[in-house]
Amino acid sequence: MSLADRLARRVKLKDAHLVTRMADIAATLPDVIRLGRGDPDLDTPAHIVKAGQEALGRGETHYGHPLGLPPLREAIADDIRRRGGADYGADQIVVTPGGQHAMFVIALALLDPGDEIVVPCPGYNPYSQAAELADATVVSVPMTMETNFTLTAEMVRAHLTPRSKILVLINPNNPTGTVTPPDEVARIAELAIEHDLIVVSDEIYARLTFGNQRVQPVAALPGMAERTITLSGFSKAYAMTGWRIGYFAAPRALVPAMSEINHAFAISTASVSQHAALAALTGPQDCVEDMRRTYDERRQALCEGLRSLGIPYAEPQGGFYVYADVSVTGLPATTFCERLLREGRVLVFPGQIYGDHTDDFVRMSLTQPVPRIREAVARMRGVIAAIRSE
Ligand code: PLP
Repeated sequence: MSLADRLARRVKLKDAHLVTRMADIAATLPDVIRLGRGDPDLDTPAHIVKAGQEALGRGETHYGHPLGLPPLREAIADDIRRRGGADYGADQIVVTPGGQHAMFVIALALLDPGDEIVVPCPGYNPYSQAAELADATVVSVPMTMETNFTLTAEMVRAHLTPRSKILVLINPNNPTGTVTPPDEVARIAELAIEHDLIVVSDEIYARLTFGNQRVQPVAALPGMAERTITLSGFSKAYAMTGWRIGYFAAPRALVPAMSEINHAFAISTASVSQHAALAALTGPQDCVEDMRRTYDERRQALCEGLRSLGIPYAEPQGGFYVYADVSVTGLPATTFCERLLREGRVLVFPGQIYGDHTDDFVRMSLTQPVPRIREAVARMRGVIAAIRSE
């Protein structure tokens, strides 16, 4: 038996393969316009970097408090409250090495084999990967372009069973950029109470919304604080992906078990990153607004380009992605992505990673300046023309 055959049955490498293959191809090509990973090209604001440097200078190079630096946990609780969220105490906040890490803590702390976790589809795939590692059952709620991929309580209801335990809401969603309207969030919350579900509310993109869109924090709704785990982090709004720091806020009854798992996996989150995150929350916030405006301009440039190409897309209401239906090219999206990369040197991700069962969609990140986005559209035009001439 080969070593690969001896991998545990729960290991599924399909998604990782797709991304790795694209990255491998990109590495062999010059001048690739990277609209793949959700990693801002913008730098971490200078005052945040400075706080990290100062922490290093002071010798903050040791393990930290297992739940996170107390002043940081206070600052997170204040920040959640200030932005209309629940009245969490600092004792309910657990700092983690990234929001993604928190997904695995949640799955391992709460899911038994046979339990069902309901996830939006398309949606951020590590929720499913985490649930599969816990041998739980992933139940996907398919959303469609006709409703701009908006999750509704009725859609969720149709997928509930007596085994349903967790409902994941990602707001704004990745990859679609959809903001769930506040009244729909309220209906979903009522449904969660009716069916005794635990809600995981991923609000990592909540500060990056466009126009008059706003995110209703789930835990702030009546009866929800005791059944909601709010997950967020610093990667997106403060351009801090490489610092690896995020957090979750949980009902008090869950904190000890979840903290223990978090501690077993991570011991603690890097002290330097925690000091930087503290500066992010307590320092000036205009950097967030500047980034939000930058993504808004990029979003408009890319959407305009897609319209000129006749490629339909979901209206991005938040986050920094555009989710587009490339079936008009006549190719499956995975094939189109590969040709766009090889022939156009533009890297975008196939929607299949996020649960597109039809293989029609691609996700484009707004992680390049407007002129590069325009150049990407021009290259896309060339590749589509070549495909159509075959
Ligand atoms: N949640 C969503 C919806 C995301 O898109 C991401 C990253 O892309 C994360 C959480 C995790 O971010 P991090 O682990 O960098 O905090």
